Amino acid sequence: MVPVIALVGRPNVGKSTLFNRLTKSRDALVADFAGLTRDRKYGEASWQGQDYIVIDTGGITGDEQGIDELMAGQSLQAIEEADAVLFMVDARAGRTPGDELIATHLRKRNKHTFLVANKIDGADPDSILGEFAHLGLGAPIGIAAAHGRNINPLLDAVLNEPQAADEISTDEEGRVLPGVEAIGTRIAVIGRPNVGKSTLVNRMLGEDRVVVFDQAGTTRDSIYIPFERHEKPYTLIDTAGVRKRGRIAETVEKFSVIKTLQAIKDANVVIFVIDAREGVVEQDLNLLGFVIDSGRALVLAVNKWDGMDDSEKRYVKIELERRLHFAQFAEIHFISALHGSGVGLLYKSVDKAFASAMTKVPTKRMTEILEDAVKEHQPPMVNSRRIKLRYAHLGGSNPPIIIVHGNQVDSIPKSYTRYLENTFRKVLKLAGTPIRVEYKGGD
Ligand code: GDP
Ligand code: GDP
Repeated sequence: MVPVIALVGRPNVGKSTLFNRLTKSRDALVADFAGLTRDRKYGEASWQGQDYIVIDTGGITGDEQGIDELMAGQSLQAIEEADAVLFMVDARAGRTPGDELIATHLRKRNKHTFLVANKIDGADPDSILGEFAHLGLGAPIGIAAAHGRNINPLLDAVLNEPQAADEISTDEEGRVLPGVEAIGTRIAVIGRPNVGKSTLVNRMLGEDRVVVFDQAGTTRDSIYIPFERHEKPYTLIDTAGVRKRGRIAETVEKFSVIKTLQAIKDANVVIFVIDAREGVVEQDLNLLGFVIDSGRALVLAVNKWDGMDDSEKRYVKIELERRLHFAQFAEIHFISALHGSGVGLLYKSVDKAFASAMTKVPTKRMTEILEDAVKEHQPPMVNSRRIKLRYAHLGGSNPPIIIVHGNQVDSIPKSYTRYLENTFRKVLKLAGTPIRVEYKGGD
């Protein structure tokens, strides 16, 4: 599981600054689920080979009328879902009543909390430490987010902490639920609220010849459901909580960005659900961006296709073509999770996408394809020398990574990389998975 770190604190203490610094090392993926998460931001980051997710909670002002209101706030979900909380305070401003209110809350939640005093540039370290130690959350770690000071020791402390084992989940009677061994193809059903994920998950599990193993357990909040269909093993990662049996944080809203992100990371194939009646909206694109960046295989399910008239259907199809060009590799299904139409066929695309994502091709064959591609269409000249591409091999799966060896590879234009991608995709008949072409070699 990818650890989740939440940045919490009053406005202006420097949360966004730290967020940007942490996520900058990689493509920052910022989800702005308008109306859903208010100003919460989610980003992916990596430190010393360890991927983690950062949430900038934005929301707590400390002016909330008491803990109840604070509890009701959206930031609370982020705290609940985090493995570690970085509680940020402003070293220049000193301790405030808002800080104290937040500290009280954090102490009660019994979350793994690190007190971080930001803006230590120009502040007197000794007086800071003393002042904030009164918050009852241990000694503060002093940083200057804006200047990158002390960030590495901070990450070291947070990420090298021995992780608490996955919380043991229990059912209503307090019996411990077993952990689940994922089998076969791991499928995550993803989409924004109310598009029909729960309905679809139930349909998929209710399909003809599906045998659901009675050992659904939890990994964090998502439920892993192993099953077989036509003797083929799968595991559904249920983010919507359809089959929820354990007693899990009551305050958590039904749709959770963190669960969604982790399910995407943990899946082989994502079934991305869109509501035909609403068309492709900004939130869909935002979420789909995460899926594409993750490199997971992808099947698009346009749901609630029942009861749409012909002109509406036509309109949705045009709209899909226009807005989803960046996911062209994915197969599109028009389904009704409610009535079950089209649901069985989803499995076909899932299987195909999974096989493509896991494809194995010998280096000899890969090199032949490369040679043919180069013959057909030469790479350009750079500094009056032709770029030479010598051989290719598969360097990874899910997504397939095609490593091309040659010289002057730094000068290869994007359009040529796209040409190679398309060629490999066509020749190897890869469907439903993104592929990545990477280069090795100097000048
Ligand atoms: P947020 O509201 O908690 O997200 O705070 P911001 O990240 O927007 O920062 C608030 C202000 O503090 C901005 O003007 C930042 O430039 C400034 N700031 C952030 N980190 C530092 C720091 O390490 N030192 C100083 N002096 N200023 C900082
Ligand atoms: P989730 O939030 O994505 O899990 O969405 P749900 O599965 O809870 O569905 C949201 C609403 O859409 C419910 O009222 C469902 O009955 C309805 N719904 C789901 N699938 C379909 C469908 O294929 N057709 C129609 N007409 N309604 C659907």
